[in-house]
Amino acid sequence: MRPTIARIYLDRLQHNVSWILNRLNPHVQLMAVVKADGYGHGAVPVAQAALSAGASYLGVALVGEGVALRNAGIDAPILVLGQPAAQEVTEALDNQLDLVVFDPERFAQIEEAAKKRQRPARVHLKMDTGMGRIGMLPAHLDDAWIERLRSPHVILAGLMTHFANADASDPLLTQHQVAVFLDIAERLRQASIEPLLMHAANSAAALKYPGTQFSMVRVGIAMYGLEAYHPMPKGLRPVMELISTVTFVKDVDEGFAVGYGSTFVTDRPMKIITVPIGYADGYRRALSNRAQVLIRGHRYPVVGRISMDQLSVGADAAAPIHVGDPVVLIGESGGLTVTADDLAREADTIGYEIVTGISARVPRVYG
Ligand code: PLP
Repeated sequence: MRPTIARIYLDRLQHNVSWILNRLNPHVQLMAVVKADGYGHGAVPVAQAALSAGASYLGVALVGEGVALRNAGIDAPILVLGQPAAQEVTEALDNQLDLVVFDPERFAQIEEAAKKRQRPARVHLKMDTGMGRIGMLPAHLDDAWIERLRSPHVILAGLMTHFANADASDPLLTQHQVAVFLDIAERLRQASIEPLLMHAANSAAALKYPGTQFSMVRVGIAMYGLEAYHPMPKGLRPVMELISTVTFVKDVDEGFAVGYGSTFVTDRPMKIITVPIGYADGYRRALSNRAQVLIRGHRYPVVGRISMDQLSVGADAAAPIHVGDPVVLIGESGGLTVTADDLAREADTIGYEIVTGISARVPRVYG
């Protein structure tokens, strides 16, 4: 096996879940968001670990992701956060998946499928209070819609919305979204419609604005120990490490060019080290000549362009680096760290994209 792995520390994930639960108001439930294969960490092991640490709901993006959790024997409530395709509705209900509703056509399909199965579907009314993505605009929640929510074929398991800017320092849009959301809840209450749960907060909102926690929070990134906003409170632990091994070392003179495009040329005699990981593994090409790795407690730069399956690291000629030495691309060595958020800053993206982008070619090893 190629010596490049993502090591997933489920005990850290459990620690993070407890840490977050300790910051929630009493009786607030935690939905562990495990879409995109548990943000690249492995949806099934992450879901099991999160539930054992006190999460009570799971969130996925796709019906297929929910079905995979059911096939693994997970019986906790699961909400599909994205809009299911019409042809997926029956499969979703067969697998006891909660669905979001916000458009009349899909609502009718869900009602029809539930009626056939003689078992009400659990739905969450998704309101667009300012995200501008899926969800019903408040102005469209008219009396006719409110009547439909009384259908005997659905259980209104939730009223929900999603924040667009909870990670930003300016709270204005989040406050506005909360006000709109509360207004909708009040309109439903006046019509004697009480959703079982109200939920809005992602990681950033759950941690920054306790008033947005309502009866449940939907937490992804913080559970994986990554930054939901900057600067994050201390205490969360990154769950994923990305580890490889030195497979080749060459001693070169000044003026030696490394990699496609010869974008790095040595200015002195150096060691050039080959590491078997590349952009096809999700170690992004934008990190070329920018990222750093850790070898035996020292920091070294990635030099030259990252190629599909390999990259090069540069070190002083005298650096004590040998074939077989572990290379930490994300993780910790000798008190130094490289986080997915560090890589994200270098690649001009977000930690979410770094961890979800680690490709299936990199085995996940649980420890
Ligand atoms: N809720 C919804 C609807 C989402 O799409 C997501 C993820 O993007 C989350 C919650 C979790 O967000 P975060 O990972 O920032 O906690």
